[in-house]
Amino acid sequence: MAKTNSTEPPLKAAAGAAGSRATEAFSVLGHETRLAILLALWEAYEPFTAESAVTFAELRKRVGMRDGSQFNYHLKQLVGHFVRQTDSGYELRSTGFQLVQSVIAGVGLEDPALDPTEVDRACPVCGAPTAITYHDEALMHVCTECEGRFGDRGQFPGGILSSTGLDPAGMTDRGPEALLNAASIRGTWNTQSALEGVCTGCSGPIDRWLHVCDDHAAEGVCSTCERRYAVMARFRCPVCKASAQIVPSCSWLVMHHPAVVAFYYDHDVPLQYEDDDAKSFQPRYREIDLKEDIDHELIATDPPRVRVTFQHEDAELELTLDEDVNVIDVNEKA
Ligand SMILES: [Zn+2]
Ligand SMILES: [Zn+2]
Ligand SMILES: [Zn+2]
Repeated sequence: MAKTNSTEPPLKAAAGAAGSRATEAFSVLGHETRLAILLALWEAYEPFTAESAVTFAELRKRVGMRDGSQFNYHLKQLVGHFVRQTDSGYELRSTGFQLVQSVIAGVGLEDPALDPTEVDRACPVCGAPTAITYHDEALMHVCTECEGRFGDRGQFPGGILSSTGLDPAGMTDRGPEALLNAASIRGTWNTQSALEGVCTGCSGPIDRWLHVCDDHAAEGVCSTCERRYAVMARFRCPVCKASAQIVPSCSWLVMHHPAVVAFYYDHDVPLQYEDDDAKSFQPRYREIDLKEDIDHELIATDPPRVRVTFQHEDAELELTLDEDVNVIDVNEKA
């Protein structure tokens, strides 16, 4: 319900499910000195050193504030929420640390824009050359010719094959192939964590289900759901609202299932990136994904069931997923 005539303070008015603890945490950040304190504590911190606490005097010096009682007032507002007071001084609590980290990740070390840049992978839909581009903190893998797997909704480039959240910091010091690999690794591990019930954004629980478009177009990208495939695995965190949807035949979804790992191990197909050059490591893992050696089929709709098929030469492995994205059946044909 819209509040048109509210006299509440904006933070209170904006808070719904976020509640009073969240508004309190937000409100203590509303002063430059307090943000400076968090940044100064982060600057002083160094992993694997025994003592990371900063004394009151040192911290005040780092922030450059003359007025001791003013400084003390602002510091006290942070203690409990974002800062911990120890016998030897002050240090970031993990919430304060995450806050600074997310700002650092969000701004990165360089300008995160990236014009479409061709990568050495064929489009799994049509076989044409593909490219990567970066928009709104997401790395997108796009086909240069067909309409891809997802509609563009007028705000993204056309031909999207995948779109993965990658912090601007992830753009640092990586070439195009390594960027696509980095996005795939983020996607894989976020999905694996979600499948095991833990949100990588906030550690909260995750809801997951198979979502089926009920008016799906037979060909191309459907105008109802804006996707090529009628069924998607969906994930949503009820705590922080992180969400993702994955094509069932994307390797991220079931690549870590023991039957899949064993299948590729038995056939000498490496599932991990080759690490001969840490910055441009070979994309062995995703070759499996992009050669269309993995396929899926919606085999029932009420409740939904999906069969995912992995092929390698003459061998075939089938996994069946239920409506909650659990693997309920495994079948290998040699
Ligand atoms: Zn294509
Ligand atoms: Zn549809
Ligand atoms: Zn979450």
